[in-house]
This record gives sequence, C-alpha cells and structure tokens, in this order.
Amino acid sequence: MKIAKIEVFQLNLPYAGGQYELSGGRVYTDFDGTFVCVTTECALEGWGESTPFGTNYIAAHGRGVRAGIHDIAPSLLGQDPREVDRINDRMDVALTGHNHAKSALDLAMWDLFGKSVGLPVCTLLGGSTRMRLPVISSIYAGTPEDMRARVAHHRAKGYMGHSVKVGASEAEGGPLLDAARIEASLADRQPGEYFIVDANGGLLPETALRMLRALPDGLDFVLEAPCASWRETLSLRQRCTVPIIIDELAQTDEDIALLLARDLADGVGLKISKAGGLTHARRHRDICRAAGLTVSVQDTTGSTLSFASIVHLGATVPQPLLRCVLDTRDMVNLAVGGFDAPIQDGGVLPPDAPGLGVNVDRSLFSDPIAVFA
Ligand SMILES: [Mg+2]
Repeated sequence: MKIAKIEVFQLNLPYAGGQYELSGGRVYTDFDGTFVCVTTECALEGWGESTPFGTNYIAAHGRGVRAGIHDIAPSLLGQDPREVDRINDRMDVALTGHNHAKSALDLAMWDLFGKSVGLPVCTLLGGSTRMRLPVISSIYAGTPEDMRARVAHHRAKGYMGHSVKVGASEAEGGPLLDAARIEASLADRQPGEYFIVDANGGLLPETALRMLRALPDGLDFVLEAPCASWRETLSLRQRCTVPIIIDELAQTDEDIALLLARDLADGVGLKISKAGGLTHARRHRDICRAAGLTVSVQDTTGSTLSFASIVHLGATVPQPLLRCVLDTRDMVNLAVGGFDAPIQDGGVLPPDAPGLGVNVDRSLFSDPIAVFA
C-alpha cells in the first residue's frame, strides 16, 4: 500500500460563539483550517486536518501549516501510510519542528490505516475503554455573570467539564476580576462536574498568587497554563497547592519528559495538532499514564476531523486518568462531514466506522490549493 497523491485544501472556520476572548487581549472570530486528502495507489482516501487557534496562541498559523506540508509532502509519496512512525521519521527529516503542519498528514495516515483494515482508529490506538467521554466546554473570558450563564448553557447541553478562561490585565480588573469569574463560573457546580481555570499562559506568578488568595477556600478546580514559561510555572507551583495542568508549554515528547523530571504538573492538556498528530499524542498518552498524570484530550481547535481524532484518542485513555475531551463542535459549527458521536448520558463514544469515521463532504471545498503526485 503506497501513497500516490496528497491534496491540500483551505477552509475558514467561523467561531460558533461570535467572538472568543483570551488573556492578553487576544480575540478570535474565525480559524484558518488546512485539510489534506491522501490517496493511495489502490484509491483509498484518508483525511486529516490542522487548525491553529489564530496566529498568536502557540507558534503555529494556518499559512505555516500549508508551507510545512509543501516541504514535507513530496517525501511521503510512495511510502506506506500504515507505518505511522516511519512516516513521522520522514516528516522530521524533511522539516524540523512545525508540529502543526505534520499533524494534518499524520491524521490522514491513521485514517487510511483504519480504512485499510476495516477498524476504527481507537482500536489501532489500543482499543476503546467503551466509557462515555465527558465533554468539556470552552468558556471564554467575559463578565462573571456572563460566564456563569454560559456554564449553565453548556451544563444543560450535557457538558460535564468546563474550561473557564482567565487572565485579566490590571486595567480590565486584574486578579480580582479573575477571582470573581472563577467564583461565578463555579457557583452552580453540580456533582461530578470538573472545572479547569485556564489562563493560557496569561498570568505572572505574582498575579496568579493574588488571584488564588482572593478566592474563598474549598473551590474545586485545577489551574491550567497559568504562566507563559517553565520558570514562572515552577515558581508558582512551589508556592501554591492548587493542582497545575500544563497545556501550551507541553508540545514535544521532550516537553512531557521535562515536566515529569521536574514534577512541574499534575496533568496535561493533550492537544493533537500541538503534539504533531496522533502518533506523538499516543506517546504522550502513554508517558502520562506511566507517570500518573491526568489527561484532557483536546485540539487547538478545528472541525470534524479534529474532533474525530480527539474522540478516538480520548477513548483509549483509561479512567481515572481521562478528565475530558474538548468538543470542537461547540467552537466551530462548520462540519466538514458526518461523524456519529452525539452527546448522550454525559459524554460521547467513538463510532465503529473504519478510520476516523468521518464522511468528508468534498463539496465544501473549492479546488485544492496544492496537489502532490
Ligand atoms: Mg488550555
């Protein structure tokens, strides 16, 4: 089985909630998605996607995804897509770093692998636990009462986890506003719910400590990505008792090894395109499991292929380590295909269809922006 053709498509994905606000004054209204279709000599098609969260979330952007694919794709022609580690070796030889470009291609390989043997990707990744995966909402930073209302809205739709964004500048209200946002978001907490307070690297150790000291005792949450650097994160961790989750800082295999060696966190936000695709994300999953770190399986954002890869990997993380999966359908309501994973009884399950299980609707795309054959 050999790769015969790689097509690259671009699609703008509108944010489903209008305007998304993050710490540091970052605002997003849509996302630049790149999609690849990899065709084999036997005419089997595998699809992948990589959609960065704007240009200033991590070191990734849509045009960079496509430039990276341009440099990598020729070296994959004629290769066996099922040999996912060898494919990743080739990608690393062709281009150093740039996980976000490699991710789309890697997903397409797993989709092809699954279709070639008639099995869903979660089976190839070790097998589904068959536990429903609790989905987490993404509550962008707003006024405390607005955030409380949006948590309630998602609770009513079946979401068991909530990622509450903080990181107000001093001019906006600083640590006291962030503390009020946390209190309001947790005010109606229900049994079994899981709350992440996510600063996306937007706090200093000083502002994080002020925010935490302004909160009443007993609130049940974990603090994700409080600071932008490892040094700041270590400084904060040594001085607070709130569990810390690493997200943006943990991208490579080495990052995961470092955070374990230095005991820098209690869990990881495992975003598939940030890791470079399912092949590396699978490795991160296994290292976290060996070390007793919790895992939230996510992606930077994306459409149906992104969500499908989240669900297939999330299904292979055993309890009690899996905290939640991100439902990107809540962020991007432009589906590029059907994916049968409704939220029921507090979560989702991967479908049994082969590969990623997405029936991609080609009519949504205009002509490919690049074809390698
Ligand atoms: Mg995060």
